[in-house]
Amino acid sequence: MRTLKRAILAFVLTLAVVSASFAGKAPKNIILLIGDGMGIGIIASAKHNVKGGRLAMEDFPVTGFSITTPADHIVTDSAASGTAFSTGFKTNNGMIARLPNGKDVNSIRYYAQQRGMKTAIVSVKNITDATPAVFLSHADHRSELFNIAAQIPFSGCDVILGGGLSHFVSGSEGGDVVIRDAAGKETVVKGSRDDGKNVVDDIKAQGYTFVTTKEDMQKSDADKLFGLFDAGIMNTAPDTPEPTLTEMTMKAIDIINRNNKNGFFIMSEAGCIDSGNHANNHAYALQEMLEFDRTIRACLDFAKKDGETLIVITADHDTGSMGCVDPSEHAISEGRATSAVYGTGGHSANWVPVFAYGPGSEYFAGAQQNIAIPRRFASFWGLDLVKLAK
Ligand SMILES: [Zn+2]
Repeated sequence: MRTLKRAILAFVLTLAVVSASFAGKAPKNIILLIGDGMGIGIIASAKHNVKGGRLAMEDFPVTGFSITTPADHIVTDSAASGTAFSTGFKTNNGMIARLPNGKDVNSIRYYAQQRGMKTAIVSVKNITDATPAVFLSHADHRSELFNIAAQIPFSGCDVILGGGLSHFVSGSEGGDVVIRDAAGKETVVKGSRDDGKNVVDDIKAQGYTFVTTKEDMQKSDADKLFGLFDAGIMNTAPDTPEPTLTEMTMKAIDIINRNNKNGFFIMSEAGCIDSGNHANNHAYALQEMLEFDRTIRACLDFAKKDGETLIVITADHDTGSMGCVDPSEHAISEGRATSAVYGTGGHSANWVPVFAYGPGSEYFAGAQQNIAIPRRFASFWGLDLVKLAK
């Protein structure tokens, strides 16, 4: 019955494209790039520290603002804001693709998949963390990491790359996973699950090629790839053996762009800008922001060549209320051109920027609520997320 329902929905979604009310040129592919905790301050700082003095986002012709306020507070967390830009609905802080009344709402990635598009989710954080989770699962609270992990193999998403392997592995004896890198060096990842379940078995049973090293990721020619490269949040230091955000994002695009008849949707998250700003650690936030710039540049190069790809960059919220200021002596000694002043160690309600490039980009200008982003994506396909959720 479920399968039949799904088949009917897929058919209706296909028909909807024909009767699309959207008048302009719709994008074939959509790349959504999220800088977690990326306020204006860290962008300004990155510009003064990037080689050549120009960020890739400066080449985006359309700019706007996203208003991030959740249903129950002034300041959002990543779960409520993620639910907003993945499903098109505001919810309470902490909730994962679920409304305050307890009803689940489908993500834009889900609808893309139902239309026959290939989809991918990438993050340097745990793949069970709020921003990736809202595209792959539903939960009352973001802290239900084992519940979220258990749902992810059944999401249908083609490519999933990130950290958080321990949430997929049983914490009981014999449940460990051994990661072997190209040089043969072994790392034992201890599972943290308390239910004895080994979700990696589900990943494999769902037809994914499961990888844990950069080398295995790069050489894989699988159509369904699931990579978890760290027990927890990925190592993003410049000399890390783990893949970078740019490497994961471009590998994912490489896979979902193969035999690409119906287009693709990818969400890729620079998750640790947030961590740097939470710690009021400018150097860390800047390192993550500069890697995000490389990811944006690589995606922009792809979109320019492709000509049918829309890229939207935004943040889930501002973290730290950070201001970019002239360097203190301390900053100069660490080789940075800028210094930072922080207003908080938490998130703020400051509006966050939106940058858009490609077909359909004009709709992302101006100040809009964060829920407008997936609602617009859906409109490109002739879909109305509000009606679909009824
Ligand atoms: Zn945060």
